[in-house]
Amino acid sequence: MSETTHTQLPKLYIPGPVDIAPETYEAMCQPMIGHRGGDFEALYASIQPNLKPILGTERPVYLSTSSAWGVMEGAIRNLVQTKVLNLCCGAFSDKWYGVAQSCGKDAEKIQVEWGEAIDPDAVRAKLAEGGFDTVTMAHNETSTGVMNDLAGIAAVVNEFPDVLLVVDTVSSLSAVPVEMDKLGIDVVLAGVQKALALPPGLAVFAISEAALERASTTEGRGYYFDFCEFEKNTVKNNTPSTPAISLLYALKQKVDSIAEEGLEARFARHAKLNAMIHTWMAKHGFENFAPPGFQSKSLTAIDNTSGRLDVPAFIKTLRAKHNVLINGGYGKIKGATFRISNMGNETEETMQKLIDQLDDVIPSFL
Ligand SMILES: *Cc1c(COP(=O)(O)O)cnc(C)c1O
Repeated sequence: MSETTHTQLPKLYIPGPVDIAPETYEAMCQPMIGHRGGDFEALYASIQPNLKPILGTERPVYLSTSSAWGVMEGAIRNLVQTKVLNLCCGAFSDKWYGVAQSCGKDAEKIQVEWGEAIDPDAVRAKLAEGGFDTVTMAHNETSTGVMNDLAGIAAVVNEFPDVLLVVDTVSSLSAVPVEMDKLGIDVVLAGVQKALALPPGLAVFAISEAALERASTTEGRGYYFDFCEFEKNTVKNNTPSTPAISLLYALKQKVDSIAEEGLEARFARHAKLNAMIHTWMAKHGFENFAPPGFQSKSLTAIDNTSGRLDVPAFIKTLRAKHNVLINGGYGKIKGATFRISNMGNETEETMQKLIDQLDDVIPSFL
């Protein structure tokens, strides 16, 4: 990476991948080690103590060399024996329904409009029909900026002892509390390129004892994402196949820096920076695409359904003038929303800088 190329690239305020800390890049440049040996086992073991509290679990956290979707598909293959209920409220959670079917599983969904949250009572009503053994959901639906009521939904799923809950926390993990053990969640998973602010290519996940037991009796789990293989290897501080060791160095640096900041402080920082964007949005007469009470703390999806702002032109000008990148909306709400991330390493200073740049460009667009 030449200095010039690097400096010409925009600073990212898109909701993933996000900006990477220089210390993280530095950590990735450590010498390669063999993954079947003591040096690797020491690295793997050293990551666990500071990673587990981020997921809110005492269980080991498995490291998967894949993006989040590898584990999301894996959860379907490992856990669904009868039928899965997919809670769909945006691009990522919707897609899980199709993925379940493409894995040959029986699937049903609860679908709400993009911009709405999942209602725990609707989940209870659906599960009461019977026949389900697994539920999937996105904690923070990155495409719409909706943060679902994780505790509420988990409590409902726990009313049905044979139903396992799988939660995608890609854009919420370490930005807000995720209490896997306390809430009785069976799988917590995340790709690392969003809230954890690492380069893409790695996913972290933990599974409950019940999920492990279920997996052990599920046929057709395959190999690469076989939960039982992850368990068998984690007890030896290892992974089933050769992992992205450079990303594990980065993860080690990240979980240590999160421990140093403190989880509570990290949550508070995300809330504060998110509020800065909300204030900016209101100042220019925009509203949040997500309803009150369900607004993400790690990004903001700003409602432009009126078409008031020419989103592509605004983003282009912002980049040309200030070399920063925000996102113009995802999938079918492209242009009808635009999204600003405050997740990962952002500070009051970096968010204020963005706000000044937004303020500089926006008058000619309104
Ligand atoms: C980005 C994202 C994903 C998909 O992650 P990949 O890295 O593309 O596999 C899944 N869920 C949510 C909520 C996301 O934000």
